[in-house]
Amino acid sequence: MIEMAKKTKLDKVMEVSIRRGFVFPTAEIYGGFAGVYDFGPIGSLLKEKLLKLWTDMFVKSEIDPPVFMVDGAVVLPFPVLKASGHVDHFVDPVVECKDCKEEVRADHLIEEETGQFVEGLDEMELTKIIRDNSINCPSCGGELADVKVFNLMLGTHVGSKRSIAYMRPETAQIMFLDFKRTATSMRQKLPFGIAQIGKSMRNEVSPRKGLIRLREFGQMEIEMFVNPDRINEHPGFEEKENIKLRLLTREEQKKEDTKILEIIAKEAYEKEILPNKFMAYYLALETLFYTKVGIPWEKFRFRHMLPEETPHYSGGNWDLEIELEGGVIEIVGNAYRRDYDLGNHGKHSGVDLSIEDNGKRLIAHVVEPSFGVERSIYCVLEHCFRDKGYDRDWVWFQFPRAIAPIDVEVYPLMKKDGLDTYAWEMYKELKISGFNVLYDDRGSIGRRYARADEIGCPFCITCDYETLREDTVTIRDRDTMNQIRVKAKEVIDILGKLFKEEIKFEEAGELIS
Ligand code: AMP
Repeated sequence: MIEMAKKTKLDKVMEVSIRRGFVFPTAEIYGGFAGVYDFGPIGSLLKEKLLKLWTDMFVKSEIDPPVFMVDGAVVLPFPVLKASGHVDHFVDPVVECKDCKEEVRADHLIEEETGQFVEGLDEMELTKIIRDNSINCPSCGGELADVKVFNLMLGTHVGSKRSIAYMRPETAQIMFLDFKRTATSMRQKLPFGIAQIGKSMRNEVSPRKGLIRLREFGQMEIEMFVNPDRINEHPGFEEKENIKLRLLTREEQKKEDTKILEIIAKEAYEKEILPNKFMAYYLALETLFYTKVGIPWEKFRFRHMLPEETPHYSGGNWDLEIELEGGVIEIVGNAYRRDYDLGNHGKHSGVDLSIEDNGKRLIAHVVEPSFGVERSIYCVLEHCFRDKGYDRDWVWFQFPRAIAPIDVEVYPLMKKDGLDTYAWEMYKELKISGFNVLYDDRGSIGRRYARADEIGCPFCITCDYETLREDTVTIRDRDTMNQIRVKAKEVIDILGKLFKEEIKFEEAGELIS
């Protein structure tokens, strides 16, 4: 008998995500388009909630220094990306099979085959490792050609003169280009931040693993502009300084048995493990954010990038990495970019991008946290995923209430006797009150609960015959599957309190045994 390959968690999560409308492969009816996905109706709501939480935590609630949101162009002219270094340096090494002509990332292939870490090596060095280790094509076993580098930007031509332009490979460049206008239009002094949420595009050699390596993806980025002499003065730091971080230092990465350093942000800054207070601040805020969206604290860490991975101009990069079943993956890049970006754009454009601070003109330094939208969403999906058999006969998502795509579903027990009109009115009322609601009257109640669990809906309301007699409804809790009976006219108030975590579910009504 042929043994079926065991499904990985990634397979299972993607299966339910596609089936239940979280994500759809783009152009699926034409066979799909590698590395590109659409968010479906449920995924769009999950994304909206995650982005809202991010905006609340990283932009809106930032008092001092303030952070301003911009929404910039996706297509950028050649000189911008020449100045930023992307035209010359934004490359990946690829190697082609002489037989089947398949192209793969040379560095990934070597790492998989030898376990050797080869970041930062050039084409000749990578080719030599391939030859020395007799590495062949992973698809057909054929001989591999020499390693070449491949620019990751997606180019295009604009206007009748067809000038070269690029789809932006990161949202960050907009913030550097808009720095001067933002400072003057908002009458800002240093420090201040500019944030953006938007699409970026990279022509990845081998897009794979569902939402993890895409050619078109969302980013949430902040460029925090600071005076380098005052990079250790962050007025809001005290509020976050006691948050415990998990750090993977460079020294530990050299060891076989690596240990994570658990340390509060204040200490990590004072012991100079982190390059400055702004970086320590962001690592603390990211820790709060990812625990809020459902990633267990012990499942992520900040890794100090090794010297060979770190750009020459950087004053330190710390990646937030999350543990998944298939390995650890980078979700946020935190970089101390110094004056590299504003310095280069000033030089190439001929426009003075200096700013006055403390009586002196200077080029602002930049601390940048750069988040991936789809990777964050995938990590939330995988960490909130509960497999069939975990505690029930179907798969479900245990999303934190704050990011559950659908807040509540409403059902009539039967599609008759006025139960349906009662439930429909309640559905309308909840919608008008701003909840994300679905109405479902098909199949048994048990099946409807299971369908609601599959999209991680925290609460389900059922209108039954007692509803008609007593004006009460039942609310079912996704996590415990417990039910309570409450007065229909109090439902909106009770749900509001449940979402704000002001009351416990079992205390919100009469528990049904
Ligand atoms: P980077 O500019 O490469 O440090 O990327 C910043 C963040 O964008 C990463 O931490 C990822 O979360 C996300 N990201 C980068 N490349 C991709 C990709 N090909 N697909 C999905 N997300 C990506």
